[in-house]
Amino acid sequence: MRKLSFSHSIRNLGRMRMSPLCSFTRRLPHPRGSHTAVSTFIPPCPPLDPEKVKELQRFILLSKRLLVMTGAGVSTESGIPDYRSEKVGLYARTDRRPIQHVDFVRSAKIRQRYWARNFVGWPQFSSHQPNAAHLTLSSWERLGKLYWLVTQNVDALHTKAGSRRLTELHGCMHRVLCLHCGVQTPRQALQDRFEALNATWEAKAHGVAPDGDVFLTEDQVRSFQVPSCAKCGGPLKPDVVFFGDTVNHDKVDFVHMRVKEADAILVVGSSLQVYSGYKFILAAHEEKLPIAILNIGPTRSDQFACLKLDFRCAELLPLITPQ
Ligand SMILES: [Zn+2]
Repeated sequence: MRKLSFSHSIRNLGRMRMSPLCSFTRRLPHPRGSHTAVSTFIPPCPPLDPEKVKELQRFILLSKRLLVMTGAGVSTESGIPDYRSEKVGLYARTDRRPIQHVDFVRSAKIRQRYWARNFVGWPQFSSHQPNAAHLTLSSWERLGKLYWLVTQNVDALHTKAGSRRLTELHGCMHRVLCLHCGVQTPRQALQDRFEALNATWEAKAHGVAPDGDVFLTEDQVRSFQVPSCAKCGGPLKPDVVFFGDTVNHDKVDFVHMRVKEADAILVVGSSLQVYSGYKFILAAHEEKLPIAILNIGPTRSDQFACLKLDFRCAELLPLITPQ
């Protein structure tokens, strides 16, 4: 009964939009850029506000079945740039745009360019380590605080941090999928095949994208040899959802079930611009779940949140005592 009453009270937070907790969370203007970013990829944000920390602390303590959804913002402090952040995201800094699923599937030439860049970027991309935010979420799982973790990231940093109750909504760059027979293989094994086939090939990387892509010239790409599936000879693709593709229905249904079972949602480091993640926040809003959002800059769901925090994930999350 005790569990039920807590569950009831945290669910009520979602309805109490003008409650004492939520009345502090109107989007007050704050001085942008007053906090010096330690990394090129982290947008400027204000220093931590102790009152806001207390509000998140209360939110976390009230929840008994917390679902956390993370996005690129949780990994920027591990040195992986995001696409959308103002001034520091790849969209703002470069003319790079993510690869489209339909282009990858239809064109061997586009796959060659993709894999050449991905091969060069892999050693750096795969070496990134989880930061304090990933590690905190993993510790919340071990303590029974975190009910389920959904990530939009493909960088495997939650897995590296030890999270197991995890759905990788858009897949993971550390796995490779055959487009014909569907067999999955580790990405590192493909790297070994690339190296064997391209022993004399050399190229210089000029920055790594969130999906492990790098910048190369057409000349560099042309001579790159791409292996095919060792089992059937089919074309290989990272086991990730490219733009223009859709998330597998079973996975979507699975996450919807976890949202229904949860009693509160915490969004960490996502602007929720991509619909595949946003729709779960819409569903949580319809379920009247309380929603807290920790993200530097506005998100597509700020109007649904009873608590909005514009701070660095790896700075704020470790300050929270989960129990
Ligand atoms: Zn195959």
